[in-house]
Amino acid sequence: MDGQIEAMLDDLRARKETPVKITAINKLQMSVISKRLAVPILRKDTAQGYLVNDSCTQCGICAKVCPADNITVTDKVRFSDRCEVCYACLHNCPQNAIHLRKEASPVRFRNEHISLKDIIEANE
Ligand code: SF4
Ligand code: SF4
Repeated sequence: MDGQIEAMLDDLRARKETPVKITAINKLQMSVISKRLAVPILRKDTAQGYLVNDSCTQCGICAKVCPADNITVTDKVRFSDRCEVCYACLHNCPQNAIHLRKEASPVRFRNEHISLKDIIEANE
């Protein structure tokens, strides 16, 4: 087990990509699932799910870590309808200002081996 974890860490450090074979049937299945199920659910979650509290400093980090370009920060933080529900914004907000409805946890999770810079650069 330790060996497997080390091998995975080596792949991550080397930014190794594993080619995944996607067939035409896979694409069709994903398209149907996405259009009929996932997108409506995610959009509903985005529109109704996130709250930004008064501790927000408009630093813009949430917009930079969002892989879906779903957040804009001007006078306030606004979510669009392209959310992929990865929760990068929640977990990387330095003020812990972003919450789900009915959630006010002070606990957030960050991978100590992946810096904010790494996440932001991966989105560029
Ligand atoms: S990362 Fe947090 S503090 Fe910064 S703009 Fe987004 S919600 Fe506000
Ligand atoms: S959950 Fe992920 S995709 Fe959705 S707005 Fe936050 S960072 Fe963007």
